[in-house]
Amino acid sequence: MHFPRYSPRHEFGASLCIAAMLTLTPAMADTPPPNLPGPMPPAANRKLAHDIFRDLVEVRSVHDVGTRGTAAILVKYFKANGFTDSEIQVLPETKYPRQVNVVVRLKGKDKGKDKPVMWISHMDVVDARPQDWTLPPFKFTERDGWFYGRGTSDMKDEDAAVAASLIRLKKEGYVPDRDIIAAFTADEEVGQEQDGPAFLLKAHPAAVNAGLVINPDGNSGEILNGRRLDFTVETTQKTYVTYTFSVTNKGGHSSEPRPDNAIYELAHALVRLERYRFPFKTNATTRLYFEQLAKTQAGRTRSDMLALAASPTVDEAAAARLAKDVEMNSILHSTCVATMLNAGVQENALPARAVATVQCRIMPDETVAGTQTTLAKVVDDPAVKVAQLGMVTQAGESPPSPQLLAALTQVVDSMWPGMPVVPVMSAGASDSIFTRNAGIPSYGIGGGWNDLKDIRMHGRNERMSQSTFYQTVEFTYRLMKKLGDVQS
Ligand SMILES: [Zn+2]
Repeated sequence: MHFPRYSPRHEFGASLCIAAMLTLTPAMADTPPPNLPGPMPPAANRKLAHDIFRDLVEVRSVHDVGTRGTAAILVKYFKANGFTDSEIQVLPETKYPRQVNVVVRLKGKDKGKDKPVMWISHMDVVDARPQDWTLPPFKFTERDGWFYGRGTSDMKDEDAAVAASLIRLKKEGYVPDRDIIAAFTADEEVGQEQDGPAFLLKAHPAAVNAGLVINPDGNSGEILNGRRLDFTVETTQKTYVTYTFSVTNKGGHSSEPRPDNAIYELAHALVRLERYRFPFKTNATTRLYFEQLAKTQAGRTRSDMLALAASPTVDEAAAARLAKDVEMNSILHSTCVATMLNAGVQENALPARAVATVQCRIMPDETVAGTQTTLAKVVDDPAVKVAQLGMVTQAGESPPSPQLLAALTQVVDSMWPGMPVVPVMSAGASDSIFTRNAGIPSYGIGGGWNDLKDIRMHGRNERMSQSTFYQTVEFTYRLMKKLGDVQS
């Protein structure tokens, strides 16, 4: 996944999110993380979480390699800490056996009366070229209060936190009311036909028969200028859909150019796309978000956010002002952007074909077909064919129930007193789309904290503050205990 929730990184990803390329300036390399204390697990559990984290990061679990290696590590730790074969399911994908999922279940005392609560966390990472990094990406480096390595913030930190917390509950002899499931999954970063949760929901529904899903991908806490800002809970996300714009032409010899040219025709269409803006809109989640965020703002920004929070009818002027900020813009309407071009086969031949890839994030209530129609209107040239690329999964909103928000707020407050809990819509994409689409209320809640000015998911020299990591583990343990007991 995924970039921080409300900024389009939350991808979820460059495959599903936009990589935030960051150069590691010497100053930044030596700067210890901001000192933001919070409760941590007992020493033995900290050690366990550290070791699981280290071992996972040191496996290059990218799409082409798969997740066999990371799956084996998790199974080893669960077995070494008291889980039996009947509680651990290793589920490789039938068509893609290198994509292995691991489902671990801590049984509840209510014998399934209440549907289980399930954590989903992906074990794969986007790739990293050693020559682009200052440190070896697939080595777990501990330096200056940081853990460095690919996946340290997306999302092997959360994988380790979920595993170490489930083991701690087991060791404490804790028996929840309802089953607690941890599904460690494959191939989120590509998120298509080899996606783990999509496979499990289809091929092994009994293993993942949850009534509530918690997805820690992308982390929830937001830090700005060394201060904690808020704790987000993702309730919905924009739909990730890609289209192609393609033009064909009879081509010919470049010594005799004609007025009709596939590349020029495509270029004109792209300029029209560049100038087009999808209509501004809000939904239940973003109105709540603006209401909360306005509290931290002043002046015109504050009044604009309050104007948007106040009514489903959008204040166009307020929206236009806020949309000047890239992140705000990404949650105020659908967006489509050209990301790749392909044209021509030879230098001295007029191009017979020109194709652009247009990557869109559409608002949850908009349809894939409707957006395609809009794009065809924007392009306004019948010679430019607009077509959908690949499969698309869409899902609506998982409105935050008062019980869930109350339980979450209690746990957040026990960790970081007074931190506002803010429902958000993600512009990035994550596996919650599959569980939501399967009808399971799913929430993006991870104990980790993103420094909004130093986001390195999918980027170079990815890192996680050591203190934040241990707080993430403690938070996950407390939330598991809270949601494992049904009365909460
Ligand atoms: Zn992720």
